[in-house]
Amino acid sequence: VLEATDLWKSFDDHAVLRGISFELARNEVVAVIGPSGSGKSTLLRCLNLLEPIDDGVIRLGGDDISDPRVDANRVRARFGIVFQHYNLFPHLSVLDNVTLASRVVGRMSRRDADARGVDLLARVGLADKAHDHPDRLSGGQQQRVAIARAIATDPEVILLDEITSALDPELVGEVLELVRTLAVDGATILMATHEMAFARDVATRVLFLDGGIVVEEGPPSQVFGAPREARTREFLARFT
Ligand code: ATP
Ligand code: MG
Repeated sequence: VLEATDLWKSFDDHAVLRGISFELARNEVVAVIGPSGSGKSTLLRCLNLLEPIDDGVIRLGGDDISDPRVDANRVRARFGIVFQHYNLFPHLSVLDNVTLASRVVGRMSRRDADARGVDLLARVGLADKAHDHPDRLSGGQQQRVAIARAIATDPEVILLDEITSALDPELVGEVLELVRTLAVDGATILMATHEMAFARDVATRVLFLDGGIVVEEGPPSQVFGAPREARTREFLARFT
């Protein structure tokens, strides 16, 4: 459903993505791992057209979304994205955070959007928080709202960028459990993560990025269990 071919991206004269290619099939969960600065966030931002690429092709559902003529806002609406720092709208209720995109982009009536929003909040275990403001919630609960918001518009692909790394350790589990549920339910997910145990457990495939290239790619059993590349082994050794 998502296919990147030879993506290049530089900031000033620093090449951050140096020819990245990969595919994400429907219902697949691909984990992107790699050292800090290896380009994981940049890759996700480029896929979502939050950052323009210098070269390469990105296809979503067969459409060339890297064509400069595409409407970037319409393309972005086909992705659900959650970042490291929950960026909920502080002045909106939890329910309005979840329904805003459906009402504005999806043109849903408030009544329909609210009904669906309540269902989504129930799905992430926060039905009772619908009318609270985000600042009343824990960090883990806020990330679960951000996930509910990301899936509200039935995105074709869900992009998750280190969504647990700003959380207190005791709150990480509830967020990862929710991602696991989405994965089991058949969501198509590309996630940058430092949670190696989780990636090993939930991902169908792992991409190891280093220096802006895909150094190694394969099923978790291979990348974690029997890495082929010395750089992968070196990187993973830090986590044991
Ligand atoms: P982390 O694990 O720390 O999140 P990452 O793999 O996500 O790292 P990126 O955030 O993609 O790495 O950054 C890759 C490189 O690109 C870094 O050297 C970073 O400084 C640089 N970079 C990212 N965004 C910008 C920007 N907007 N302007 C200039 N340089 C940038
Ligand atoms: Mg990052």
